[in-house]
Amino acid sequence: MNRIDLKGRKAVVTGGARGIGLAICQRLADSGAQCAIWDRDEEAATRAASEFPGSEAIAVDVTDPGSVDAAVAATSEVMGDIDILVNNAGIAGSSRKLWECEPEEWQEVLQIDLFGVFLCCRALVPGMIAKGYGRVVNIASIAGKEGNPNASHYSAAKAGVIGLTKSLGKECAESGVIVNCVTPAVIETDILKQISQEHIDYMLSRIPMGRFGLTEEAAALVAWLSSEDCSFTTGGVFDLSGGRATY
Ligand code: NDP
Repeated sequence: MNRIDLKGRKAVVTGGARGIGLAICQRLADSGAQCAIWDRDEEAATRAASEFPGSEAIAVDVTDPGSVDAAVAATSEVMGDIDILVNNAGIAGSSRKLWECEPEEWQEVLQIDLFGVFLCCRALVPGMIAKGYGRVVNIASIAGKEGNPNASHYSAAKAGVIGLTKSLGKECAESGVIVNCVTPAVIETDILKQISQEHIDYMLSRIPMGRFGLTEEAAALVAWLSSEDCSFTTGGVFDLSGGRATY
C-alpha cells in the first residue's frame, strides 16, 4: 500500500461504522490520522473505533441539526479542531420507478444523502476556514452523474451532492479548504440489502471491468483527497466506476 501522510490530522467520517466508511477510517488511521466515527449505529461505531487507536465513536443522526451540533461539540472536546470531513453516511432507498415511490421514502433519501451533507459541511467548514486548512470529501455516486433507473431518489440526491461540492469548492477556494467528491459504481456492502437483485445486476452489467468496486479502492482515493498532496483541485468529481464513466 502507498503511504499517505496524515499524521496529526483529525478526521470526521460520517457513516464510518461499516462498509465504505469503515474502510476509509481504516485507511486514514493507517495514514496517521485520528478518526471520529460518526454514525447513527452507536454500537457498530464503538466497535469500529476500538480497532483504531485514538479514534472515537460519536452517535449522530446527520439529518438532525441539533444532533450534528452535539456531535461537533463532543468531537471537539476530545479531539480539538477537525482537519478532514468525509461525508459518507447514506442510504440507497428501495428500487422502484419514480411513480411507485412513497413521498416519505423519497424525502428520507434526500434528507440523509443530501441534506445531511449540507448540515455536516455547515457545521464543520467554518472552523476549517478559520484556521486556513481543511479537506472535505463527499461520497456521491455514479448514479448522480448518469441517473440510474429505479433509483430516482438516490440519483437526485447524489446529483445534488455533486452540485453542492462544486459550489462549496468555489466558495472555499481561497481559504485553504479543499472540497471534492467521488462517484463510485457498485461496491458490495450492507447498503445493497436495500435494493433489488435485478438492480444490482443492472449496475454490475454497466461496469466495463466486470466486477464490483472494493471498499479499499474507494478508501485509497479518499485518503489522497484528504491529504495535503491534493492542493490544486477543488470542486472536483473523481470517478471510481471501473470504466463506466469516462468523464
Ligand atoms: P452502508 O449501509 O454499508 O453504511 C452506511 C452507514 O451510514 C451505516 O452505518 C448507516 O447506518 C449510516 N447512516 C445512514 N443514515 C445515517 C444517518 N442519518 N446518520 C448517521 N449515519 C447514518 O453503506 P456504504 O458503505 O455502501 O455506503 C457509504 C456511502 O457510499 C453512501 O453515501 C452511499 O450512497 C455511497 N455509495 C455506495 C455505493 C455502493 O455500491 N456501496 C456506490 C456509490 C456510492 P444504518 O446501518 O443504521 O443505516
